[in-house]
Amino acid sequence: MQGLMMNTPLLITSLIQFAAQYHGDTSIVTRSTEGPVRHSSYGEVFARAQRLANALIDFGIKPGDRIATVAWNTDRHIELYYAISGIGAICHTVNLRLADAELVYILNHAEDRMVFFDTDMSETLARIQTQTKTVDRFVAMTDAAHLLDNGPEGTIDYESFIASASPHHDWAIFDENTAASMCYTSGTTGDPKGVLYSHRATVLHAMASCYASTLNLRTEDVVLPVVPMFHVNAWGVPYSAPIAGTPLVMPGPKLDGQSLFEFMDAECVTKALGVPTVWMSLLDHMDKVGRKPAGLNSVVIGGAAASEAIINRFELDHGVAVNHAWGMTEMSPLGVVNTLKTKYQSLPRDQQMPTKLKQGRAIYGVDLCIVDDDGQELPRDGDTSGRLLVKGPWIVSEYFKAGESALNPEGWFDTGDIATLDPDGYMMITDRAKDIIKSGGEWISSVGLENAAVGHPVIKQAAVIGVAHPKWLERPLLVCVPEGENQPDLAEIREYLAEKVPKLWLPDAIEWVESLPIGATGKVLKAELRNRFAGYTVG
Ligand code: ADP
Repeated sequence: MQGLMMNTPLLITSLIQFAAQYHGDTSIVTRSTEGPVRHSSYGEVFARAQRLANALIDFGIKPGDRIATVAWNTDRHIELYYAISGIGAICHTVNLRLADAELVYILNHAEDRMVFFDTDMSETLARIQTQTKTVDRFVAMTDAAHLLDNGPEGTIDYESFIASASPHHDWAIFDENTAASMCYTSGTTGDPKGVLYSHRATVLHAMASCYASTLNLRTEDVVLPVVPMFHVNAWGVPYSAPIAGTPLVMPGPKLDGQSLFEFMDAECVTKALGVPTVWMSLLDHMDKVGRKPAGLNSVVIGGAAASEAIINRFELDHGVAVNHAWGMTEMSPLGVVNTLKTKYQSLPRDQQMPTKLKQGRAIYGVDLCIVDDDGQELPRDGDTSGRLLVKGPWIVSEYFKAGESALNPEGWFDTGDIATLDPDGYMMITDRAKDIIKSGGEWISSVGLENAAVGHPVIKQAAVIGVAHPKWLERPLLVCVPEGENQPDLAEIREYLAEKVPKLWLPDAIEWVESLPIGATGKVLKAELRNRFAGYTVG
């Protein structure tokens, strides 16, 4: 027997419609690419999204067409999210830090018909314009006065593009499984692959993001997503914040520690989300000025592991609570978020720390399990590690144009991460499958070793890769960026690490470098490091 309830499709438009109706005057403040701070609101964004939707249709955009954005976190970018998906087209967010060849590959693979871009990308897009095969129109996300003349041929400014369109749009109702947006994986795991999010997945993910045990979005907060809108839709914040009626502060292109600090301070940001490299630069500035941005009380750290050092700097030095989180492009992206269950809350800090360092706790909507190399499920004992598999309504089933399932025969998606799970659902990443160091018959967690290393006062950043060893096949090489002048020798670092990691993990060599290669999504490029140290042997 079927239930007798309304079968209302879960469409993205409903999110902004809700926010415009009930939180219409809630602010969206943007540091614009042109420079000045711009003030908008959910009401205004919704009104302008209607005009934009009409302009797109007038231009000839049809349902299913892909439209690229190559842009920072701004109010106009939010308008694009809603207008494009709202007419059944697909908002393809492109990482603007990619090299020319990758940009060309992605725009052509997606067959984007239009490109909306921030003006600082004018030159880059002009350079690659002739190589883009399907783009009919480039639109600079600015007004006529700020349009640069170095952009792609035929570029029009955003304000002129929407100016003559009708201000009212009747949003179509369609199947909730229709594609809404698209994002390519960052390619740290091979060729970039397109992940095509549906309206249904996006809405469910947005609803789950608001839970107290996930991002805990509230009307009382002021949220700044440092994580870019081209990096898995800024972890879904432009979709989840409207549900909660949370004011947004959009940082535009200025993401260095000082700029972030000043903007957060001025706009009384209470919660911010980003990757560890961004937080390191903010923390350095906080240390320099001796305080936190006035309103800041929590940060979410994801995309790469949050070390104990970074958590302590936020929590102990500045009184800013940290929530660790894990996810991936293929998961919309939220997989787990770390909030402490009641039983851990009264424990002394040193006993809480092992749990706080885990990537997070299972959330309703994402099934997790770990398996061995033969696919046999492993125990959830917090100790055994295995390949992490996931399942759920906001997880990829197939990559764009792949023509084959991305899942195993049982319907699980293999994350490529190696992790432990405990009975409470806390998951801890011990490595990427391809980064794990196989020493003799044992596995050494490069992530575990890196986290321990950055706890040393003279190690600012650390990355561990496997290098050849005649007996053990592979042993860890610790590559470090020093904090200041002091570069202790291997023996001293091993002595420090000996208290923190198993003896087998102690690195066989250390190399000091000026900087680590960081990819377009703020992660250390292990593949590049492996190239740099190719042929390195120990033992
Ligand atoms: P890519 O896989 O191309 O680097 P993603 O941005 O989708 O692009 O990255 C997802 C991966 O990032 C995860 O599979 C995991 O390896 C890593 N990751 C994400 N969050 C964390 C975290 N909190 N701790 C450790 N690794 C993380």
